[in-house]
Formats: sequence, structure tokens, C-alpha cells
Amino acid sequence: MKLGIHPEYHEVEVHCACGTTWKSRSTKKEVRLEICSSCHPFFTGKQKLIDTEGRVERFTKKYGAQTVAGLKERLEKQRKSPGSAASSEAS
Ligand SMILES: [Zn+2]
Repeated sequence: MKLGIHPEYHEVEVHCACGTTWKSRSTKKEVRLEICSSCHPFFTGKQKLIDTEGRVERFTKKYGAQTVAGLKERLEKQRKSPGSAASSEAS
């Protein structure tokens, strides 16, 4: 290894926002994370859906649970009676 061109690689304490800490190695003095394997939903299995504005709720209220069959049926209805869908959207 050529001297003087590599950053110093040393042991560091890694801190996650959830409070977990562990030792690792890095060229940085300190490692701080927002998410790690002990708090990420993928690893915990808990879904955390942050829907502060109620967008998902509004979508499901407006369109219902989406299925292809339901969508086709709705489009068919819309074609038969144009204007009814537009008037129901106004609120
Ligand atoms: Zn964490």
C-alpha cells in the first residue's frame, strides 16, 4: 500500500437515530445513521406508513380498492353516462 495517499481507517462507534450503537470500521471519525437493521421496517416486519395528509385514505375513498375488473366496470359506466363522474368529484 502506497504511503500518504490513503485515508486513515480506524474503529468507530456507529450511532443510529433509534438508539442502537455498534462498532464498525470507517475512515470517518463518527458514523450517525437515521435508520439501521434493528429499526428499518424491512427487518422489523412492521409497516410504518406515514400518511399525515390522509392521501391514501382519500384515494381509497375516491376510487375504492383497485382491481382491474372494477376499473373496467367503472370505465364502462363512465362511457355510458358521461358527466356523472365529473360531477361526483366536485366537493
Ligand atoms: Zn436504528
